[in-house]
Amino acid sequence: MQNINPPLTSACCPQCGASREISEERCPSCNAKGLYVKNLTVRHLVEERFLEKVGEEDYYLCMNPECDVAYYNNVAVFLKDHLKVPIWFKRDANPKYVCYCSKVKEDDVIKAVLQGDASTIEDICRITGAMSKYECEVNNPTGNCCYNIIKEVLERALVLRNSK
Ligand SMILES: [Zn+2]
Repeated sequence: MQNINPPLTSACCPQCGASREISEERCPSCNAKGLYVKNLTVRHLVEERFLEKVGEEDYYLCMNPECDVAYYNNVAVFLKDHLKVPIWFKRDANPKYVCYCSKVKEDDVIKAVLQGDASTIEDICRITGAMSKYECEVNNPTGNCCYNIIKEVLERALVLRNSK
């Protein structure tokens, strides 16, 4: 069992108040605990050719960045390459989206901080257009809203800027 730090656990943003929990269901490949994800989210994100395998059950998302498994349950397993979008926290994700609804990338946030004057989440949203739509339940691989992802990248970029 690898000791991993899930990039997102349960809390979501003040806007949507949604929360998804890390479950006890372990990834069939790496044995890490998965994040509970609704069937709706998986159905929306797997490539067309896998749709008939999705079934009716909900899924779990493997949060291990090194593992190729994306979604799993007792019936099916989908790898990260079976999805229409890269999962931002998986190794080699390209591009790394921080806001899937508005297709804002990690680089866009970092640029807004280092080359612009962005210091807050509100600045980031204004400059990049992030979080202008709220369809995270079907667009974000976690089914959660992107607030926490953006916040984490913003904080990292501010540290970078302040160290210059
Ligand atoms: Zn895994």
